[in-house]
Amino acid sequence: MKVLVTGGAGYIGSHAVATLLEKGHEAVIIDNVLTGHLPAVNQDAVFYEGDLRDAAFLDDVFAKEKVDAVVHFAASSLVGESVEDPLKYFGNNVYGMQVLLETMRKHDVKKIVFSSTAATYGDTNVVPLTEDLDTNPESPYGESKLMMEKMMKWCDGAYGIKFVSLRYFNVGGAHPDGRIGEDHRPETHLIPIILQTALGQREHISIFGDDYPTEDGTCIRDYIHVLDLIDAHLLALEYLDNGGQSDIFNLGSSQGFSVKEMIDVARHVTGKEIPAKVGPRRAGDPAVLIASSAKAKEVLGWNPTRTDMTDIIGDAWRWHQNRTNGYDA
Ligand code: UDP
Repeated sequence: MKVLVTGGAGYIGSHAVATLLEKGHEAVIIDNVLTGHLPAVNQDAVFYEGDLRDAAFLDDVFAKEKVDAVVHFAASSLVGESVEDPLKYFGNNVYGMQVLLETMRKHDVKKIVFSSTAATYGDTNVVPLTEDLDTNPESPYGESKLMMEKMMKWCDGAYGIKFVSLRYFNVGGAHPDGRIGEDHRPETHLIPIILQTALGQREHISIFGDDYPTEDGTCIRDYIHVLDLIDAHLLALEYLDNGGQSDIFNLGSSQGFSVKEMIDVARHVTGKEIPAKVGPRRAGDPAVLIASSAKAKEVLGWNPTRTDMTDIIGDAWRWHQNRTNGYDA
């Protein structure tokens, strides 16, 4: 298949491109490199630098490349920033989807796999989360992703554009070759912050609250290896190619780790002390978020194999050691 990967210079998008190419597909990347990185662009892919909201640019890419399907990662993705600047999220994410769907419709591209999020569910006490639960996003980020899902649903009904929406839980790890990995500016995610502390780039990691109703008082999340996550995208492409109906799937490993447990695993993997201090809670953090991934396993035949936390943190650690300044190095 020839696949357009929007956001292919980002953390998850660059891993999707690597896997598509490894499996013999062709990849065309669109990225405006505002949060993505030029060195993350795979040399064996076709790359167009530009913004999704630029309809003439997108039209040109579709006309030239004649792709079979789209995997859509390009989006703003910081929960806190979205609360402060919701219009950035509705503009970049929702309007970006509008232009993308219009262009797909015009060029008769009928398959899209979409990078969605567990933030569509909102704060909930349900463990594990299944796809049939109510959605009630707590942030403009989660809301924008839910709106994008709904846009695809209506475009399926009207124009026959089939979609698979994949709701991610916490993604970590990196390609074992150590050449691509996670590099966000600013970094807000737990695993890279722990590993930057292991490298001595931060004095300590702040644990955001230890008074949650969990065994050790810190928040529990469901961490999944980025390559297991990407495997599900390839299965979703196959599923749509075989005539599968539009649908939504959770992607997680269905096992929970607390913040303290994550720091302990990282101490073991890195052999470093990793100083940690307990600080206040971060607004909007639910105590426990764990996915049920039964549906993805059953319908897509997904079988995550990198579920050992030592491997997830170990692969991320290889990247952080290789590129101590991320893509700047
Ligand atoms: N976290 C933390 N300190 C940090 C960053 C994150 O204690 O410096 C906690 C955060 O409160 C959450 C978990 O680690 O419980 C995972 O956070 P992350 O931002 O990586 O992902 P999220 O669950 O927010 O999508």
